[in-house]
Amino acid sequence: MQLVPSLINGELIVSSSLPNIAVTNPANNKVIAELTCTTDAELALAVASAKAAFETWKEVPASERARVMMRYQQLLKEHHDELATLLSSETGKTFADAKGDVWRGIEVVEQAMNIPAMMMGETAENVARGIDTYSYIQPLGVCLGITPFNFPAMIPLWMFPMAIACGNTFILKPSEQDPLTPMKLAELFVQAGAPEGVLNVVHGGKDQVNKLLVDPDIRAVSFVGSVPVGQHIYKTATDNMKRAQCFAGAKNHSVIMPDANKQQVLNNLVGASVGAAGQRCMAISVAVFVGQTKDWIAELTELLKAVQPGLWDDESAGFGPLISPQAKQKVLSLIQQGKDEGATCLLDGSDFVLDIDGYQDGNWVGPTVFSDVTEDMVIYQQEIFGPVLCCMAVDTLEEAIALVNRNPYGNGTSIFTASGAAARKYQHEIEVGQVGINVPIPVPLPFFSFTGWKNSFYGDLHAYGKQAVRFYTETKTVTARWFEDDLASGPNMTISLK
Ligand code: NAD
Repeated sequence: MQLVPSLINGELIVSSSLPNIAVTNPANNKVIAELTCTTDAELALAVASAKAAFETWKEVPASERARVMMRYQQLLKEHHDELATLLSSETGKTFADAKGDVWRGIEVVEQAMNIPAMMMGETAENVARGIDTYSYIQPLGVCLGITPFNFPAMIPLWMFPMAIACGNTFILKPSEQDPLTPMKLAELFVQAGAPEGVLNVVHGGKDQVNKLLVDPDIRAVSFVGSVPVGQHIYKTATDNMKRAQCFAGAKNHSVIMPDANKQQVLNNLVGASVGAAGQRCMAISVAVFVGQTKDWIAELTELLKAVQPGLWDDESAGFGPLISPQAKQKVLSLIQQGKDEGATCLLDGSDFVLDIDGYQDGNWVGPTVFSDVTEDMVIYQQEIFGPVLCCMAVDTLEEAIALVNRNPYGNGTSIFTASGAAARKYQHEIEVGQVGINVPIPVPLPFFSFTGWKNSFYGDLHAYGKQAVRFYTETKTVTARWFEDDLASGPNMTISLK
């Protein structure tokens, strides 16, 4: 059995801790590797190694750090198919979707290649007579990243390339459910020329995270995952005087206006709702039909019925299995709860089984559609994180906006319309951090930032783009005067610059 090691101070360490955590193929729940959890002593070693590496890495010029990112980007592209195959093996994602997961991460590395320009400060001459002020952007030190299972390439790549390009060193604690892809990312990063200790990867779950969260040598924490864990990590990190950015769960609404192009709307909703088995933080899980567009729900249901889950290398498969039997159980019980609460189940994927020998026991759930969903229902209030679309109906755009704004989450939303005025009103009034106009899943490219709001994000500075540079750095402002002669002007007893 393949043992998954930690990467500490440039060395792969198979920890002696027991018990190991099984890494499984979600399509049949067969064990494909065993994760060795990092021990307390090894965690301390990882922090010490990252701290020591920071002393030299922070002195490496930004352009040299950028060159490491250039080599890394090249290696990721060369290994794109291999990474996607590995990613599919531990997540069950279809190969095309796994390639997309890797690609969205490569785009962040491309952004990290711009680091010299992104770390330029500001200058102002003659802020007082003979005095200039200028600022520098300097790295923080050791940063920590804790990542979820659903994007094992993209989300680690949201974090460590930007942090390290800024001159920090990094400790990554990937999801214990799919650690093989993050380990391959780390291996390629070392190959790209990252010195030992600049990136460390440790493994485990809450015990390892909680140990790191109180370590005084860690300056900043980036987290992506569920709401309760995000809240715990934000509170603990900030209680321990660290910066924190915590990206959490979501319930993303798509609003469909009567003037929208029906076929485009329906095609877009199919992929956005059940793609990746609904296990995307930006999945559309609620479709809000305005006016007569509620008549489109029947046709949407037919389109979703035609989408079949399948194996990663089956090009006709719409999506793969859920990540674990526990995840499947949670989705099935929410589907049952939706029926019990009185929502109309137009399409029920609870009994879906993949009819291929050896794969019947995978974590399969077929596309599921509810209509007549109301705000008091648990299937509306909770993040289901499965291939389940809740359909709601309202009469006006104003009602749709009010509904979305009452929801406690604020990760993403979209509106489908042919009206510039409706789109403008929606983008302006909606209290959600990422808005798509005729774009179902508006994940910003990395020269912007990933800007979830409300219960989908705790913190202020977001992932990648300019905000990541600010999150992973300090600003130092220098006020300088160079005397032209040796004449002393006597003590200045006021605070003003003259
Ligand atoms: P999770 O919260 O269970 O786990 C995330 C990470 O936290 C893992 O590394 C895990 O080991 C660690 N962890 C789990 N419990 C912990 C605890 N009690 N204390 C400390 N650390 C703990 O999330 P998941 O199931 O892996 O991922 C799915 C969730 O992530 C969904 O809610 C999804 O919406 C969210 N997500 C959000 C975004 C976003 O950008 N907002 C992106 C992707 C996923």
